[in-house]
Amino acid sequence: MNASEISELSVGRLLARRRQLAAGLSDVDRTLRGVLLHEGRRCSSEGCRCRRGELHGPYTYLAAYAEGRSRTIYVPAVVQPAAEAHVELTHRNEALLLEISQINLELLRRRALE
Ligand SMILES: [Zn+2]
Repeated sequence: MNASEISELSVGRLLARRRQLAAGLSDVDRTLRGVLLHEGRRCSSEGCRCRRGELHGPYTYLAAYAEGRSRTIYVPAVVQPAAEAHVELTHRNEALLLEISQINLELLRRRALE
């Protein structure tokens, strides 16, 4: 729901929508912010095929932004499915939180924030 659609709803409807969005949040303990990248790498051995452009991998990395800086962390294959599920869930939850915040902003404008 965008800002102009939100501005057209009654306070009662906004509160109902807000409850509905909050109920859609799940497994917040699995929050993992970042983006998964799949990249090939070069190794250190001189005569390796990767020196001719046949890179090793692809390997999975998590690009995570935390405490004001961005880090890229290797994701071992054994935890890759879990990492994908966590990142996906986090994107879904953050979309819900964003809309909840937009509704609360509208409630604030109407002096209906409790
Ligand atoms: Zn190599």
